[in-house]
Parts: sequence; structure tokens; C-alpha cells
Amino acid sequence: MELIRSPAELARLESLRGHGPLVLVPTMGALHEGHASLVRLAREHGQPVVSIFVNPAQFGPGEDYARYPRDLDADLALLAETGAGAVFVPYAAAMYPAGVGVTVQPGPRAAPLCGAARPGHFAGVLTVVAKLFLLVRPEAAVFGRKDAQQLLVIDEMVRDLGFPVRLIEAPTVRDADGLALSSRNRYLDGPARRRALGVPRALAAAERAVRAGERGAAAVAAAMRAELAEADRVDYAEARSLPDLGACDRLGGRVLLAVAARYGATRLIDNLALRVAERRVEACGLLAAPGAAA
Ligand code: AMP
Repeated sequence: MELIRSPAELARLESLRGHGPLVLVPTMGALHEGHASLVRLAREHGQPVVSIFVNPAQFGPGEDYARYPRDLDADLALLAETGAGAVFVPYAAAMYPAGVGVTVQPGPRAAPLCGAARPGHFAGVLTVVAKLFLLVRPEAAVFGRKDAQQLLVIDEMVRDLGFPVRLIEAPTVRDADGLALSSRNRYLDGPARRRALGVPRALAAAERAVRAGERGAAAVAAAMRAELAEADRVDYAEARSLPDLGACDRLGGRVLLAVAARYGATRLIDNLALRVAERRVEACGLLAAPGAAA
């Protein structure tokens, strides 16, 4: 496994490129089994190149940039075991040599949900993802469904700016009790982790309601909020249409049920995507299948 610490050293990827298409897996490190599943999925499509970069541009003032978990030795061990071809771990000064200047302005999909709760967050995400695409020049990139809006906002950038990168979405990996794996779960102490199970319970309650025939978005949102009573703050618990993340009063077609809630200082997000027809409800992906109607 190649360890690459600066953009200048990325020329070393050329030997890997000879063995198949490069598939980028961008991460912020503190890797867990969810990240490992992305690397394994990348291997099915080519040569995985994992980036580890805690991107200062996507954290707002007062957010957890300084205390975000960092454990490079453990990350490299996990990646070597999982079969990453190369790992790119740039220093912030190399990614932003003149500070954060030119940025990528996100499109309309960034307006609701986390975009509303974290102003500037998706401009920071798109700026670093665009830069990684230009530096690594992958044929494809893998992103987790866990960060649903992030994937949709990146999809919009790829489409609107014409990046020659194919996006691959990976399902969410969960602990046995349903909590989605997240680097931020390390912040949760025992009681907070127990309360945080309200997040997967909220999605399960919403899914039950929809499967029982509920189509009113407000009623589905209320079912989610009832399970989030132990959260210290609920940023949102909403149903949105896919893939545009538009507001919806009644559920129909592909919809995203999305939650963001805080437990102590830890902000957790999770979601569920469903295809809702009059009588039939089934799990679905976020990105429209190529050639398929949304
Ligand atoms: P992060 O390091 O949290 O920025 O995440 C890097 C990538 O891993 C993103 O594409 C995330 O969506 C994905 N990811 C994070 N948590 C999970 C999970 N529990 N299951 C699958 N993918 C995940």
C-alpha cells in the first residue's frame, strides 16, 4: 500500500493506474467498518485510493474541527488489511497553500437539512472533493448513503460541472443495535449512546408508519420526532423528495427520511430512502440508476 503525503507525490499513482481504474474513497479518517465497506466496494470497481483529510473548510466556527478524532496508525492498519492500493494523507497546508480562497458554490440540493443547519458546510465539502478529483483523477468515487445529502450535492456538482467521475453509493453499515457507524460515535459516553438509539428508532418508526399506509409528511415527521424526545436538540426530522431534496407534503415516488440530532456535543445524522407507491413501499438508492426515471 502506497502512503502519499503531498499532492506532488501523487505521480506515484501512475503505476497503480496501470492495474485498473482508480476508485477514490474520500474520508476524514478515524476509520471504522463503514469506511472498510467502502474500500471493499471500491475494489470491486478497480484500484481503491483512500484519502484521509480532516477538511477545515467544511467545519463552521464552534464545530468540532480541532477535536475531530485522528488516529493515523490505526487507519493505516485497517486500510492495509482491507486492501487499499494507496492512501493519500495530505497536510492542510498542502491542500490550501494560500488558505481557503476559491470555493465551489453548491447547488439547490444543499439548501435544506444539513445545508440549513451548517452554513458553508457543503461549499467546504465540494471544494475539497473537487480538488481531490482534480489531483487524483479517479474514474470513479465511492460515497456512503449515510451522508445522503452530501452524496446528492456531489452528484449535482459532477453533473453540472461535468466531472468525468462515476459516483458509486455504498449502503450504511450499522452496529448490531441499529446505530449507524460514525467516527463521531467515539464521543458518545454510555448514557448518551443509549439515548442516541432514538435516531435509528425514529427511522424505523417512520418506515413502519409509511408501510402501514401513512403518506402525510407531517405525520411521518411526528413519528420520527416522538422517538427523538431524548435528544438534546433535533436539527431536523423530515421527509424530502429524491433526488432533488425538495419539500413534500405527501410521500410518493422516491423519498428520503432524514434525521439530525444532538446528544451532548455530538451531532448524529442518519437516513432511510424509500420508494413509495400507493400500495408498495421498498428501500431504494439515492442516485437515479443511469437511464432510469427519478
Ligand atoms: P467521513 O470520514 O465520516 O467523512 O466519511 C467518509 C465516507 O464514509 C463518506 O462517504 C461517508 O458517507 C461514509 N460513511 C460514513 N459512515 C458510514 C457508515 N456507517 N456506513 C457506510 N459508509 C459510511
